[in-house]
Amino acid sequence: MLFLPKVYVVCSKCLRLFDKKKLIDEKGRLECPYCGNTKFVDSFGGAILILDPEKSIIAKKINKSEKGIFALGLE
Ligand SMILES: [Zn+2]
Repeated sequence: MLFLPKVYVVCSKCLRLFDKKKLIDEKGRLECPYCGNTKFVDSFGGAILILDPEKSIIAKKINKSEKGIFALGLE
C-alpha cells in the first residue's frame, strides 16, 4: 500500500497527483504542469499508478491514456 501524507495535492482537472512542495518549488505557485489548471484539492480517497495505459483496465475505466499517478475518489 502506498503511503500518502498530506503534502500531496491533486489537480482538479486532470487528477494528477503532485508533491505540493515540489510543485511550488518548480512553478513558484500551484499550477498543473500538464494542463495548466490552478485548482487543486488535497482530499482524496486514494491514487493509482498507470505505467502502461494501453494495457491498464483502470486507465480505461477512468479514461486516462497517459502514464502517471492519478487520484481516485475526490471529495
Ligand atoms: Zn492538471
